[in-house]
Amino acid sequence: MKTYCLYLAALLSFNCLFAQIRNGYEQEINGIKESLTSLTNMLASDVDMSSSKKHQIRVNVAKLSEYVMYYQLTKELLDQFELIAPDLYASIDSIKDGRGRRVAVYVRFASEMEMQNGAHGTTNLNQSQHDPSLYSSDYGDGTVSIKIASVTKSLTLLAHEFGHVFYQVKNLKSYAIDYASWYQNETFNSKYIGHNGNDLSGSKALEYENLFRDQFLAYSKNATVKIDSPLAVLEAIRKSIYRKS
Ligand SMILES: [Zn+2]
Repeated sequence: MKTYCLYLAALLSFNCLFAQIRNGYEQEINGIKESLTSLTNMLASDVDMSSSKKHQIRVNVAKLSEYVMYYQLTKELLDQFELIAPDLYASIDSIKDGRGRRVAVYVRFASEMEMQNGAHGTTNLNQSQHDPSLYSSDYGDGTVSIKIASVTKSLTLLAHEFGHVFYQVKNLKSYAIDYASWYQNETFNSKYIGHNGNDLSGSKALEYENLFRDQFLAYSKNATVKIDSPLAVLEAIRKSIYRKS
């Protein structure tokens, strides 16, 4: 029995090690939580603090709380996505590029205000300086960065971006050349970008989006676990964070 447990523990950590979908806020979350605790304690313990200092600390607490809130939202929405569409999730969680290398996919759900130029879902497109077949993002070489607006349709938007990721990671070198020639005169905001008639990244994105819709409907019919809308999840997290602070 002991051997079995050890084996299981080893297997779980092995799986975790190679999980390629990551919470985009995870790298800084521990430091942010520590700062939040010390600022909250400072506010509670220092009765002689000036009102301007109190105000400044409260502004910082609000900023850090916002970070924790979107970290938690991202965690819960990724769990929901995996529950609803495990095969789509797994196709990205185990993704390898054209040369067989694993690529980590960092996902952040963010407020609508934080999205660039009103886009509701974005996937970065960058090549490593050392290797045109290797994906790169702000998270480093061998990574992709996805950002999704926190709106009712967040999970469908994520499915769409996962479709882009699936194609682009595997075909980065040739896709980057096509992308430059097809879209060089388009503004960032153009909905056409990524979706001209020949763009296989665009068609994969629509395919993933449609598959997710079907799986969401099927899941909803037989659901044992209720799926709350992203905005309801966000509101519940907001309440729990502000109750604590
Ligand atoms: Zn698209």
